[in-house]
Amino acid sequence: MLGFKLVYSDDYYLPIGAHVFPAEKYERVHRRLLRTGVAEPSDFVAPEAASDRDILLVHTPRYVEKLKTGTLSAHEELQLEIPYSPELVRAFWLAAGGSILAADLALRDRIAFNIGGGFHHAFPDHGEGFCMIHDVAVAIRRMQRDDRIRGAMTVDCDVHHGNGTAAIFAGVRVPSSPLPSTGGPLLPPAAPAKLRNAHAGDVFTISLHQEHNYPAWKPPSSIDVDLPDKIGDEDYLGWLDHALSSGLRQFEPDLICYIAGADPYREDQLGGLSLTIEGLKRRDELVFRVARARDIPIMVTFAGGYARQVEDTVTIHSNTVIAAKEVFSTVRNH
Ligand SMILES: [Zn+2]
Repeated sequence: MLGFKLVYSDDYYLPIGAHVFPAEKYERVHRRLLRTGVAEPSDFVAPEAASDRDILLVHTPRYVEKLKTGTLSAHEELQLEIPYSPELVRAFWLAAGGSILAADLALRDRIAFNIGGGFHHAFPDHGEGFCMIHDVAVAIRRMQRDDRIRGAMTVDCDVHHGNGTAAIFAGVRVPSSPLPSTGGPLLPPAAPAKLRNAHAGDVFTISLHQEHNYPAWKPPSSIDVDLPDKIGDEDYLGWLDHALSSGLRQFEPDLICYIAGADPYREDQLGGLSLTIEGLKRRDELVFRVARARDIPIMVTFAGGYARQVEDTVTIHSNTVIAAKEVFSTVRNH
C-alpha cells in the first residue's frame, strides 16, 4: 500500500482521435503502476465529475454554456487544438472532479495524485492548447469555498508556461531583484535563466518553463522562470530549488498543487529542454522533499508529455508516483 491515494478513472481518456496528445497515457500509467507493484488496486480511488457550480468557481457562465451546448465558435475550437465533442466535455468535468478529490485527499493524507489533470492553459472564458477546463484552479477554489484552505501555491514544471493559471490567479507585477536561495545540496544555477517576480493574491503561482515555446503571450505568474533552450538536469534543478525557496519565503500556502509535466524531457516533441528521465525524477523528489520538510499538503497532476516514445511519457509520470512513495514513506516511520 502506498499510504496515499491515486485518483483515477478509465474515463479520463480524451476522445480526440489521432493526436500528438497521447490520450491513452492515463490508462497506461494506471496499468504500469499496478503491473510493476508500485501501487495496488486499493490505492486507487474513482472521482465523480465536478458539478457545474464547481466549474463556475473559475470559468465564466457564458463559456460553460457554450461548452454544454456545443456552441463554441470556429476560432474558439481552433484555439483549443482538440476537437470538440460532448464526450470531451464530460472527460474534462471528470478531470476537474478528480483534482477536487485529490486536493481533498492531500489535505487528509499530506499527498495525493490525480492520475490526469494539470490543464494549465485553460482561461476563465476560453480554452487553449488541449486544455478546456482548468481542473487545478477549480480544485483550489473549491477547497477555499469549503474553508479547507486559505492560500495555495501552484508549482508548474510543465515545459510550457502556465498561462491560464497566471491569468486566473493574476498578481500585480512589481520589479524585483533576484532573491538569494536558501542553499541546500544543489549548486546555484549557472545557466542564464531569468526569474521574474510579481505580487500574489491568495494563490501564489510558480512556473518554470522554456522561454521560447508556447504560449507566445505569458501573463505574469507570481514567479516565472524563463529557461533557455536545451537546459539540462543540473541547471533545471538549481532553478527549481531557487524558485521554491524564493516562493516559500514570500508565501505560506496551505496546499501546494504540483503540475508535474513530463514534457521538459529531452525527447519531447513539443518541448525544447534537455532533461533526462532520471533528472525529471530528481525534480519530483525535490518538490516532494520541500513539501514534506515544511509539512505542506501537496496535490499532484500530470499535465503534458509528448515523448517520441509514449512509453517514456508513461515512465516519467509513473516515476512521479515512485518519487512520492520514496519521499513520503519515510514520514510514517517517524
Ligand atoms: Zn506542456
